[in-house]
Amino acid sequence: MIEPNMYEVMILGQRYTVEHVPNLLVEGERCEGACYVSERTVKIDDALRYQDARYNRVLKHELMHAALRTSGLAELMDLRMEEAICVLAESISIK
Ligand SMILES: [Zn+2]
Repeated sequence: MIEPNMYEVMILGQRYTVEHVPNLLVEGERCEGACYVSERTVKIDDALRYQDARYNRVLKHELMHAALRTSGLAELMDLRMEEAICVLAESISIK
């Protein structure tokens, strides 16, 4: 289980807060994760804290959104390309 506390990660020198949110909604829709670059915040649905593998996939996905948007690279691609890169990032693991 992932601890309930908020924590911080650094992305390209920017401090992002990772928050666990019960029943995370984005534009009225249930979501597992969301990235808010202007707030330097990544939100993850609290229910995922009990599913380590799923939690880590969603976290990597949202952190890649944060990196692409913070770097400005997201502005060079359409949303489908950005999403494809974030899905690819989900598969990165360190053993
Ligand atoms: Zn995404």
